[in-house]
Amino acid sequence: FNIPNPVNEPVKAYAAGSPERKELQAAVKEARAKQLDVPMYIGSEEVRTGKTRPMSPPHDHKHILGHFHEGDASHVKQAINAALGAKHDWENLAWEQRAAIFLKAADLIAGPYRAKINAATMLGQSKNAMQAEIDAACEFIDFLRFNVKYMSEIYAQQPPVSGNGVWNRLEQRPLEGFVFALTPFNFTAIAGNLPTSAAMMGNTIVWKPAYTQIYSANVLMEVFKEAGVPDGVINLIYVDGPTAGEVIFNHPDFAGIHFTGSTGVFQHIWKTIGGNIHKYKSYPRIVGETGGKDFVIAHKSADAKGVAVGLVRGAFEFQGQKCSAASRAYIPSNLWEDVKKYMLEDLASIKMGGTEDFTNFVNAVIDEKSFDKIESYITSAKVNPLTEIIAGGNCDKSKGYFIEPTVIVTQDPMYTTMCEEIFGPVLTIYVYNEEHYEEALELVDQTSPYALTGAVFSQDRYAIDLATQKLKNAAGNFYINDKPTGAVVGQQPFGGARASGTNDKAGSMINLLRWVSPRTIKETF
Ligand code: GLU
Repeated sequence: FNIPNPVNEPVKAYAAGSPERKELQAAVKEARAKQLDVPMYIGSEEVRTGKTRPMSPPHDHKHILGHFHEGDASHVKQAINAALGAKHDWENLAWEQRAAIFLKAADLIAGPYRAKINAATMLGQSKNAMQAEIDAACEFIDFLRFNVKYMSEIYAQQPPVSGNGVWNRLEQRPLEGFVFALTPFNFTAIAGNLPTSAAMMGNTIVWKPAYTQIYSANVLMEVFKEAGVPDGVINLIYVDGPTAGEVIFNHPDFAGIHFTGSTGVFQHIWKTIGGNIHKYKSYPRIVGETGGKDFVIAHKSADAKGVAVGLVRGAFEFQGQKCSAASRAYIPSNLWEDVKKYMLEDLASIKMGGTEDFTNFVNAVIDEKSFDKIESYITSAKVNPLTEIIAGGNCDKSKGYFIEPTVIVTQDPMYTTMCEEIFGPVLTIYVYNEEHYEEALELVDQTSPYALTGAVFSQDRYAIDLATQKLKNAAGNFYINDKPTGAVVGQQPFGGARASGTNDKAGSMINLLRWVSPRTIKETF
């Protein structure tokens, strides 16, 4: 059975005056003019509890895009029952049939739903058109198409050796029970990938998105339904974390969690699962991508302009709200003046504002809680004697949660903003003596507990090799002469270790294999 070899979905440019820009602008306008009433989707039902909460663009928080219906523990139970009820038919459907559903979902997003999902991501999560396009359209399409290909390879794997009178088989069973997908706000593609990758392998899902992504999750659900995902296979609920956790992690049929979010929440979940381990039928699969404190280190041989561009794009695209965002940089003294000049020039040309104006590069951070947290880091840097803010530093939440791209330079390589994840548009730079490259590499390795992404810039092969070796465990995605963000499905499988997650590489066979539990069958004749 042949699955076409996927190619990465080409990114549309949305150039001024282009038909695609007009179409996207119209979709944004139409979405803004509506008042959506968003139900939960459990089994075949659209559930409206009447307990509604508003949804607003982070860059225009007084405008209401609609409301979603919040559920309680009873809806979590209902969703689990729906998932368990749908399981038998779903897992017994030929995998080619499941493949067809997800390939169709990819085509729907590539075509008729592209503008709608991008508009929802622009309004609901405050991504500019380009960031929405590479996330909600291209990356999610890629996740679906590449995962279908990897799935087909898993089912086509060589069987174990057999001999005369014996036939050995390996059957890739789905997990026994339901899978819980707990998804973040920052990538619509990740929100879509966590439930679909596990579902593809024959599992049924309870999906709980971040409240700040429900606006675009609702469009994803529409796509899944139109693509033919049967009722009960993916159940979408909006319930607060502790209430959902209480029901899910105490359930005997809890078979696994597919998570992207903060390290703190993941560790809490892991401990809860550990404490309840005797209650489950099987050891649950725990797959999580968590925080990052991603680095850029330049060697004295690096191209200063390349470093500056990498820093600005790596740190400030989508307001730094990527687990992969460059948030600490180590620049050699010989390059510093040039890197600084190019960075400041670049930053001066950047516009900040709402996503409806396509020329804005920087938009708002996701919500007030995030805004306050990021602002407090900036406020303390303003008064610290060892730090200087060389760009940005202004924060204003009157209309939207706007924080200027902020560059802090510190003389203390262990300063808080060099160590802690901020998840916002804040980059901290430490300038090191250019002759002490090896010590700087050690600093990079030891400063933070995270190990998601990192980058080295250098024209010197020995320096690249040294960084590659010394930073072996400091990043799951390591970039040479490029920014540490923007992993492409099928090209740079994504994930990190240490405090950054279980490193099960999103968009890869490694990940899909976590959602099956193989059975060995020996038959003798
Ligand atoms: N895969 C994204 C990237 O490479 C980051 C994902 C995340 O922030 O969780 O930039």
